[in-house]
Amino acid sequence: MSIQNVSSFAAGHWIAPGAGARNIASAITGEVIATAGNDALDVQAMLDYARNVGGPALRKMTFHDRARMLKALALHLREYRKAMYELSFNTGATQADHLIDIDGGIGTMLVFASKGRREMPDSTIYVDGELEQLSRNGSFMGQHICTPIQGVAVHINAFNFPVWGMLEKLAPTLLAGVPAIVKPATSTCYVTELCVRLMIDSGILPDGAVQLVSGGLGDMLDHLTCQDAVAFTGSADTALKLRSNPLILGNSVRFTSEADSLNASILGPDAAPGTPEFDLFIKEVSREMTTKAGQKCTAIRRIIAPETTTSAVIEALSARLAKTVIGDPRLETTRMGALVSAGQKRDVLEKAALLGTEAERVFGNPDDFQVEGADAEKGAFVPPMLFHCASPDTAKHVHASEAFGPVSTLMGYRDLAHAIALATKGQGSLVASIITHDAEVAREVALGAGAFHGRLYFNNRDSMNEATGHGSPLPHMVHGGPGRAGGGEELGGIRAVKHYMQRTAIQGSPDILTGIGQQWVPGAKESDAGAHPFTRHFGELAVGETLYTKPREITLEDIEHFANFTGDTFYAHMDEDAAARNPFFPGRVAHGYLLLSFAAGLFVEPNEGPVLANTGLDTLRFMKPVVAGDSLKVRLTVKKKTKRNDEYGEVRWHVTASNQDDEMVAEYELLTMVAY
Ligand code: NDP
Repeated sequence: MSIQNVSSFAAGHWIAPGAGARNIASAITGEVIATAGNDALDVQAMLDYARNVGGPALRKMTFHDRARMLKALALHLREYRKAMYELSFNTGATQADHLIDIDGGIGTMLVFASKGRREMPDSTIYVDGELEQLSRNGSFMGQHICTPIQGVAVHINAFNFPVWGMLEKLAPTLLAGVPAIVKPATSTCYVTELCVRLMIDSGILPDGAVQLVSGGLGDMLDHLTCQDAVAFTGSADTALKLRSNPLILGNSVRFTSEADSLNASILGPDAAPGTPEFDLFIKEVSREMTTKAGQKCTAIRRIIAPETTTSAVIEALSARLAKTVIGDPRLETTRMGALVSAGQKRDVLEKAALLGTEAERVFGNPDDFQVEGADAEKGAFVPPMLFHCASPDTAKHVHASEAFGPVSTLMGYRDLAHAIALATKGQGSLVASIITHDAEVAREVALGAGAFHGRLYFNNRDSMNEATGHGSPLPHMVHGGPGRAGGGEELGGIRAVKHYMQRTAIQGSPDILTGIGQQWVPGAKESDAGAHPFTRHFGELAVGETLYTKPREITLEDIEHFANFTGDTFYAHMDEDAAARNPFFPGRVAHGYLLLSFAAGLFVEPNEGPVLANTGLDTLRFMKPVVAGDSLKVRLTVKKKTKRNDEYGEVRWHVTASNQDDEMVAEYELLTMVAY
């Protein structure tokens, strides 16, 4: 069998392994299948290339350009995923595991591509949050913006997800406009290398956007500045060592880490044997124990169930785990493959022995188990192992020692407060799941254990057919956890992109804020194009372009007609005395919806034209009641323009309606689709 040379991609060149290269063994056969690493790698040249070539190229693109780039990359990778599956079997992963790692990574990239287009501007500056009114007359205002950091993101990844682990960090980084240097764990870097090759060869990425270090990282971290970021996933020991680097501390280099986690799953007090929740709990726990052979940062390490049900849990879980066929992951019948390496197997067995000092092993024997289609001695196979800890209040290792394999410990609880206390003994976890059909239980756990967890996953008979699983971090939801889990946060939609940008408070006049954010701020200059804005195409409309309508008087007949026509005969519009008793109204008032309808009647240009549709209305406020005899006039200003597809874009209009005394009666943002 030939040995794969796993290269690095540095400053635009592929660098083959050289002096200092490490051998990598197959998880299934134990034979050396690859070699990676080269002490001669010029880390300074890599950093320079990212900072001077990749960064400027990415920063020239808008968020939408980068989102389109991510989509193209993801679709390209999807075409070649079978080649990645093929290599990845050697890591011990089954086809089901590949779906999580490879398809899951591609899916994550697609979600960021889509969120980038929908939730970020087609521009290079991201406006973060609402305008802040800093002065009485509105001539001095505040706004927050985010711009990409101008250095490089160094991603140090764990061995368990060679593709997802890279793509979940890469997608938000590239979307932010920041180049990345990816350093996968050496034991599975041959899969990551193929994925990087596919991305580079596709020609979709600008030069310098992504580089790869296969093998050791050298002293790269000693060359980082305040404009760089490190995102680490791996063991707590390595995290501590790397984040303690004096240069990283001295330069306040952003350092986020995702490390060990003793995730818990709690069986609710309502979920007795015989309920759908009990069966669901057994299914979720056994799946989490055996997927990726338990090598998941989110796997369930602690099973917390009512004391009265522990025997039933042991019985049901053992029966299910007994069905796990362990073997060569290429076999279709295999349900659980191998650990990644002999080293990891040693580590898991040592940790299991440690758990054994406080808990009794009630299922699985590492010295006696069946392996299909492979040599149990040569491959890194271990069986699922279930422990039962009878004294979880005094035990230490079961709450602190992460056996990174198919190993989990059951502990009984007396009442919900006790269950919460046990869960928080993990001192910070990525996720806890609670299987309950009782919303009160859910609330108590959320309040009691939320502060110790990055994610809480509730499941029951209502959600079980669609729930995504305890162990699946989703691109939309944050992933990370406090304390032992590393104290970091990844994913969570656009939040993840902001981790690679600097948030800056901008203070200034409305014109200055409009110029920076490319969205109109009340008080900023308005322009009149001389033609009705609804007659103008997307490209012709300018931010700040404004239409003032003529006034229209509102009569009692209008109010009564509107009430009878729509059926909205609420007393405040119909009964003078009743309305006057209401603290909000002087007497009968016009309907808010009447004002909106009349406003549209005032500003609309009726003929067929570039405005295609009204797609919504945001931030509507009614400020002052309108009574019969008042008149209404409208101001309509182009606030923001966003391209949507090849035919049309979204125009967000800032609309105010005022009365005859120029007092604002309503304010809102109107959304329309306008043809190019
Ligand atoms: P490590 O912490 O040793 O490695 C994680 C990453 O850090 C790898 O890419 C590794 O590269 C890199 N690394 C290690 N030392 C340095 C260094 N001095 N400078 C730069 N990079 C470095 O974890 P392992 O992957 O070996 O896993 C060990 C244990 O960590 C597991 O048994 C498990 O308990 C835990 N773990 C937790 C995970 C989680 O998400 N919660 C995920 C994976 C592991 P290299 O491979 O080249 O050494």
